[in-house]
Amino acid sequence: MKVRAKVAAPAFPQPPMKIVRYRDSLGAIHHACVHPAGRLERLEGDLFGDPVPSGQTADVAGILAPLDPRAILCIGLNYRRHAAETGAPIPEHPVLFMKVPGAVQHPDAPILLPTTLASHQVDYEGELAVVIGRTCRNVSRAEALEVVLGYSCANDVSARDWQKQQRLGGGQWCRGKSFDSFCPLGPCLVSADEIPDPQTLSLRTRLNGVTVQEAGTADMIFPVAAIIEFLSASTTLQAGTVILTGTPSGVGMAADPPRWLRRGDTVEVEIDAIGVLRNPVIEEGSDSPD
Ligand code: MG
Repeated sequence: MKVRAKVAAPAFPQPPMKIVRYRDSLGAIHHACVHPAGRLERLEGDLFGDPVPSGQTADVAGILAPLDPRAILCIGLNYRRHAAETGAPIPEHPVLFMKVPGAVQHPDAPILLPTTLASHQVDYEGELAVVIGRTCRNVSRAEALEVVLGYSCANDVSARDWQKQQRLGGGQWCRGKSFDSFCPLGPCLVSADEIPDPQTLSLRTRLNGVTVQEAGTADMIFPVAAIIEFLSASTTLQAGTVILTGTPSGVGMAADPPRWLRRGDTVEVEIDAIGVLRNPVIEEGSDSPD
């Protein structure tokens, strides 16, 4: 990892950097770059502009999701074995759905099992998240990675009952995937320069320490560049959009019997070169995992 000196530089693309967002002891929100030894240095400037290290050690009271997304666009059925385990055919084009931006949850903060509008089939989906750094439209596949600010880990938490059951309005996926806390994101943003080929990563999801999903991003049906080409076609992609790129096989829905998330569980999504996104599971309205 390199951190550039505090000098004038092009606004975009940024230099290789691992970035976290945090709340300081006074409640203010900042970004910081992560030095190899683990020290966090506060950044000055906008994440999408020209952030530079401030020279000051970050006063971290809590780590937050790396950004508040402008939009969350999600690709379904993007790994062949996952498409097979759900019984869905391999799609001709990427399957797009959305989560509301307010569904974002911070690292180590709880996934809330909905109780007011109750779900009894809440599932995990470990995924590679792509952050768009520059507002763009009609981006070719060859140039697609140039609009990427960086990458993070995500959990596309899904209430399968609200996602799938016709009597619950299922069929569209927005309701079942947009409950509060259903989009954990983090623990950091790794700049695109540090990951020149996003199809070379390995991803695993652990439920209570047991690996339940494990795949390489090379197994994606539609690689990141093809997804960006598709999503930006005749459609403006705004800076700050987060794209969830689909989940591999091994979701709880496909287990026999299905294994739904329960109070007290811990889900970890790990992508090498990025880190581990860890979230406990509690019920909406409760204060602790116990
Ligand atoms: Mg998903």
